[in-house]
Amino acid sequence: MKGWKIENRVNEYSELTVLRELDVLVVGGGSAGVAAATTCGRNGLKTALIEKYGFCGGAAVAGMSGTICGMYLASEDPSKEPEQVVFGFTEEFRRKLKEKGGVTEPQRYGRTFTVTHDPLMWREAADELLMDANVEIFYHTAVIGVVMDGEEYKGVVVESNAGQSVILAKRIIDASGDAAVVARAGGEYFFGDNGVIQNPTMFFRMGGIDMDTYLDYYGEDTICPPEVTAKILEVNASGEYSLPRHKIWIFPTTRPGEIMVNATRLAGQDGRVLNVIDPVDFTEAEVFGRKQVRDYARFLKNFVPGCEKSYVVDTGVEVGIRQTRSIEGVEKLSNEDVVTCRKREDSICRSPWPIELHSGTKPKLHWILEDWYDVPYNTLIPRVGENIIVAGRCLSAEHEALASARVTAQTFEYGHAAGQACVLSLKKNKSLRELKGQEVRARMIAAGSRI
Ligand SMILES: Cc1cc2nc3c(=O)[nH]c(=O)nc-3n(C[C@H](O)[C@H](O)[C@H](O)COP(=O)(O)OP(=O)(O)OC[C@H]3O[C@@H](n4cnc5c(N)ncnc54)[C@H](O)[C@@H]3O)c2cc1C
Repeated sequence: MKGWKIENRVNEYSELTVLRELDVLVVGGGSAGVAAATTCGRNGLKTALIEKYGFCGGAAVAGMSGTICGMYLASEDPSKEPEQVVFGFTEEFRRKLKEKGGVTEPQRYGRTFTVTHDPLMWREAADELLMDANVEIFYHTAVIGVVMDGEEYKGVVVESNAGQSVILAKRIIDASGDAAVVARAGGEYFFGDNGVIQNPTMFFRMGGIDMDTYLDYYGEDTICPPEVTAKILEVNASGEYSLPRHKIWIFPTTRPGEIMVNATRLAGQDGRVLNVIDPVDFTEAEVFGRKQVRDYARFLKNFVPGCEKSYVVDTGVEVGIRQTRSIEGVEKLSNEDVVTCRKREDSICRSPWPIELHSGTKPKLHWILEDWYDVPYNTLIPRVGENIIVAGRCLSAEHEALASARVTAQTFEYGHAAGQACVLSLKKNKSLRELKGQEVRARMIAAGSRI
């Protein structure tokens, strides 16, 4: 395969202590990683999860993307009630949040619905699920290398305050969002559309909102009304503001008088598209993201009724990252699969979410109406390499397809699928690539998924 090389590195780390020998190691504690590790642990596998932060949640919590999108059908009919079509681990997590008072009822988002969650409760829900499933969690621990034997993934090298060590595992689930394991093993990946990826966004929350006045003006739809866009254009023209995104989204949260704002659009100061895999770009996104938050907050305070006494509560722990590396999988979800709502026997997840492409001044939305497309199992399997499966937003998908397939309801279910695949693979003594999507899907359905 062109450009492909996995070096034999089984002895490269022989000086390091072996910290654990596991059935399954999950790298990354975002939505996909939590679902994957919980599934493996629950099925009796000796499982650990590694996360570089001190909490789970990834883009949904550290990046504060803050809603579970992708559960409900979209429709042209504004009177249609929310119709949920994605269940399984997604629904289990939503219910867990609900018990804690950490998630809203469905909120309108254009032609569909979403729910907004509390990022602190998200962390606690994940801790509980993982601990109940006997998953060993290593927070503040990062994967920095991979132990390979030819094409076989044998383990990873981790670094924490204690130094470096090795964790060996029979199966590895790369749920890092960035394909951190596959990339470090020399595996194949690509970035978006010939290197162009979606822009990052710095989320923020604002308190002190007079909700009745605010909702009277803004309306129930979390996508801003045309008056807000017109006002943004007007104030930009005055030169007093620099608000690069003209269509913004605001979600009332579970806390009284609080909103969560998805408004900023971050590009390099020289106009280049930022790729946060590069620490220079990542830093620029953080610094200018915080600055842009202040501009949008000032705009809301001055021009949106109900926000007069508002203040910034917080920003994301990190800038929200929509897209970095996608693996070259055995199969790639295509843009056409999405727009034609292709159904598959080997599907491991439905997605009714629109293509929500963030580039330019207005995010592009391509709606999927009263339907969904299926995501096949083999989008999680790298073309080369054994004992490895990915889960989450680094699955193999074309640029616009990923702009739909990356949202949280789906990433939970990709994690669920990767977990069930590891259970099956170890039980049947088969490689992950030998498994049929149909077998994985059957286990998922037995565990509550609807596919
Ligand atoms: C700005 C923005 C807005 C969004 N809006 C929405 C929305 O409204 N609704 C919605 O449903 N979805 C939204 N999304 C998408 C959604 O949040 C993410 O796609 C989804 O959460 C990704 O989940 P994941 O588990 O695949 O990856 P991530 O959430 O990225 O999790 C990966 C985890 O791996 C960890 N990690 C990475 N590398 C390493 C390493 N080397 N060692 C150890 N740990 C590592 C990370 O710290 C992280 O916790 C949005 C995303 C962004 C960025």
